[in-house]
Amino acid sequence: MTETVTNWAGNITYTAKELQRPHSLDSLRAQVAGSAKVRVLGSGHSFNEIAEPGPEGVLLSIAGLPPVLDVDTAARTVRVSGGVRYAELARAVEAQGLALPNMASLPHISVAGSVATGTHGSGVGNGSLASAVREVELITADGSTVTIGRGDERFDGAVTSLGALGVVVALTLDLEQSFDVEQHLFTELPLAGLDLETYETIASAAYSVSLFTDWREPGFRQVWLKRRTDQPLPDFPWAAPATEKLHPVPGMPAVNCTEQFGVPGPWHERLPHFRAEFTPSSGAELQSEYLLPRPYAVDALHALDAIRTTVAPVLQTCEVRTVAADTQWLSPAYGRDTVALHFTWIEDTAAVLPVVRRVEEALDAFEARPHWGKVFTVPPAVLHGRYPRLHDFRALAAVLDPGGKFANPFVQAVLGG
Ligand SMILES: Cc1cc2nc3c(=O)[nH]c(=O)nc-3n(C[C@H](O)[C@H](O)[C@H](O)COP(=O)(O)OP(=O)(O)OC[C@H]3O[C@@H](n4cnc5c(N)ncnc54)[C@H](O)[C@@H]3O)c2cc1C
Repeated sequence: MTETVTNWAGNITYTAKELQRPHSLDSLRAQVAGSAKVRVLGSGHSFNEIAEPGPEGVLLSIAGLPPVLDVDTAARTVRVSGGVRYAELARAVEAQGLALPNMASLPHISVAGSVATGTHGSGVGNGSLASAVREVELITADGSTVTIGRGDERFDGAVTSLGALGVVVALTLDLEQSFDVEQHLFTELPLAGLDLETYETIASAAYSVSLFTDWREPGFRQVWLKRRTDQPLPDFPWAAPATEKLHPVPGMPAVNCTEQFGVPGPWHERLPHFRAEFTPSSGAELQSEYLLPRPYAVDALHALDAIRTTVAPVLQTCEVRTVAADTQWLSPAYGRDTVALHFTWIEDTAAVLPVVRRVEEALDAFEARPHWGKVFTVPPAVLHGRYPRLHDFRALAAVLDPGGKFANPFVQAVLGG
């Protein structure tokens, strides 16, 4: 490539032979049909080589296609082009008095890239962002359009697809009535004495709940409750209310964080941790995340506590969230109500990787599935055992992309066979 293209974190430099930015669907079709290897680059917020097409391949950005944001207020759906970011989507939906059920911590990520990797927010009743998708429109290897909707037997492979089936040009998402959210933050929740029943009560204390720790001490430095104002806020006797605005990384200024201290506001200005107006162009961090069945939550936290002196030196913050079970075959929350253990590391890959391996060893007994868009070293053979419908996805990819145009080494390793 004549230009250097990296992911958001800057830890991956794509080796593709060229970056193409089609401005119309017709040119996109022609470019896909005329290329031997293609991977789509979304907003580049993944931390591994999932989007890398390899030196012979084409990296395709669809950010230049005319954006589609068609809200159907009667049906309560929105049809959105794949390259649109959640911040823009949320504003269009809110303008019609409607809402998405949930958002990730950062609103700057593209819709297609997010649902492709199983991206999620938090909440015991909230599925991953892919759960809101009801229809996917793909440009497949020969340039033709394939539309797969809920009810189609292929649907459960088509949303969290790792970009392996084709170019997602549009998605239709379910919406609901707009709602307001307040953030209530607490500090210093001890791990000692936390049993599974109490953890479940805490995780269910609001619509979306996050616990944060830097593992320098046992226990959590912060608890963020995101309460829908149409739902009650229960007493929270386990930790003290925060006395100042907080950033998830202890000590960082909270100026770019969404409004706290119980100030009500629209869902899209409270569910993400970070404000849409603040656009981080690159990040001095790496991330990993492991999703496990929720009944393992407390045992897994103790397993991490046992290695906290190894983890803490390379950690900025660790976030504990919940995700409701979903039905996407490659979703890390497939078939199981989930606790998600997230790590924001320092940006030093060499220092972080050995610690990632230690974390994976510590979580191995808990059937952990790594986040597809973050740093992990779990061997493919282990991954294969953790996805009971992997063979169905492999069969779907063989039908929609028989020549493997959208496969790359990352996807080939994941699919095996
Ligand atoms: C600061 C930060 C905060 C984050 N917060 C969260 C969080 O709260 N929760 C969470 O779960 N994750 C989170 N993530 C991870 C992030 O959501 C995922 O990495 C997600 O994939 C990012 O979307 P993207 O568009 O940047 O994807 P990219 O990294 O660009 O691509 C990811 C994959 O999607 C494919 N893809 C992208 N667009 C298309 C398309 N149109 N058609 C076909 N395939 C496509 C790519 O080929 C690639 O395989 C965060 C990441 C960062 C950097």
